[in-house]
Amino acid sequence: MSSSADLEHRWSYRRARVTREFGQQFGGVPSVWVRAPGRVDLMGSHTDYNLGCVLTVAIDRDTWIAATPRADGCARVFSSNLQQLARFEVATAAAGERNWDRYVRGVVAVLEREGFRSPGFDAVVHGTLPLASGLSSSASLTVATGKLVEELGGHEIDPLRLARLCQRAENEVVGVPCGVLDPCSSILGRAGHAMLLDCRNLECDHRHVSEELTVVVADTRVARELATSKYGERRAECEEGVRQLSRPLPGVTSLRDVDRDRFERHRSQLPPHIARRCSFVIEEHGRVRPMAEALERGDRKRIRELCEHSFAGARDEYEICVPAMEAMFAALSETPGGVGARQAGAGFGGCLVAIVERGAVDAFMRDASRRFAAAWGQEGSLFEVQIAQGAGRVEERS
Ligand code: ADP
Ligand code: MG
Repeated sequence: MSSSADLEHRWSYRRARVTREFGQQFGGVPSVWVRAPGRVDLMGSHTDYNLGCVLTVAIDRDTWIAATPRADGCARVFSSNLQQLARFEVATAAAGERNWDRYVRGVVAVLEREGFRSPGFDAVVHGTLPLASGLSSSASLTVATGKLVEELGGHEIDPLRLARLCQRAENEVVGVPCGVLDPCSSILGRAGHAMLLDCRNLECDHRHVSEELTVVVADTRVARELATSKYGERRAECEEGVRQLSRPLPGVTSLRDVDRDRFERHRSQLPPHIARRCSFVIEEHGRVRPMAEALERGDRKRIRELCEHSFAGARDEYEICVPAMEAMFAALSETPGGVGARQAGAGFGGCLVAIVERGAVDAFMRDASRRFAAAWGQEGSLFEVQIAQGAGRVEERS
């Protein structure tokens, strides 16, 4: 991590920076401070909208919002990352241009509709997540906004309800067809634990991760340009698979309902590309629980095997890997200290995630960065993340 990025992460530096920007934009000092983390999935790509399981962690890169209430129903929000100021009326928050502030407006509007009213506010948003790289900066912004409305309005919103409402804001007001996984991870995270989340009923099982292992995020820095359109295409292909499988298998309403054996008996009736998509999702769902168990036990061999199968399936069956992801996968897999590596988020560029020996992590990041840059011709960005607590107030630190 470069020294300036390192500084951004230092709590006191960050607090001072946000306070200064708040003073410059609005005058005075903020009275309410909330934070919401990003997330990375350790297993379970594209299983969420197929109502399967996913293994996810909240990370210590997050979005902070520092704010004061206003009495006039007006909201002014400054993004420290983009150096842009947005304004809107709380009463008409859903209207307006399709800019970054739609994430904030969306949550305010959706919560307002549900009876969680908010006063106006002045706010500074500051995030330490790379934007649009698959670590869910968008959900960390929506969830932080939800926490802000809770604080300003004096509400207590059930965590799962808040997750659904943040998802709705992103779906309906921003117009991105994201799943519930991202806001759930940001809200439910527990330090040192992975969340085994069942996307059918949102049951969350917190599983300890061996302290000998740590998590490294490897950003290819290749923009996920096709991500939104291809994401929609994959969702539609899964739905088509469900439609066709439900003919011989009545009662099947999602890929979650189809186990491996039943799928193998009927896969020949599906068009080949639909069969490949379904096969990946069914296998990937089946890898989630074993991965949670292997991480808990520190079972390196099993972690590596599961990660390799996950990446191979993403590349060959779900077809969400671009060449930079393959180069990064090779670099992460060949570097000593690496236990396993796979795609993170939706794919089509963005980040990979590696499980790494904690004692070897600095050398691992140096070596793997070098290998990637040599093979790909451009620098990636590798950084270790700690498994963090879910969203809440920014706590005082000395
Ligand atoms: P991801 O969630 O993987 O980071 P998305 O494309 O879903 O990628 O969301 C990224 C978008 O979220 C950004 O382009 C921006 O509009 C918004 N966003 C997230 N964090 C911030 C921030 N700190 N300031 C302004 N906009 C932000
Ligand atoms: Mg997002």
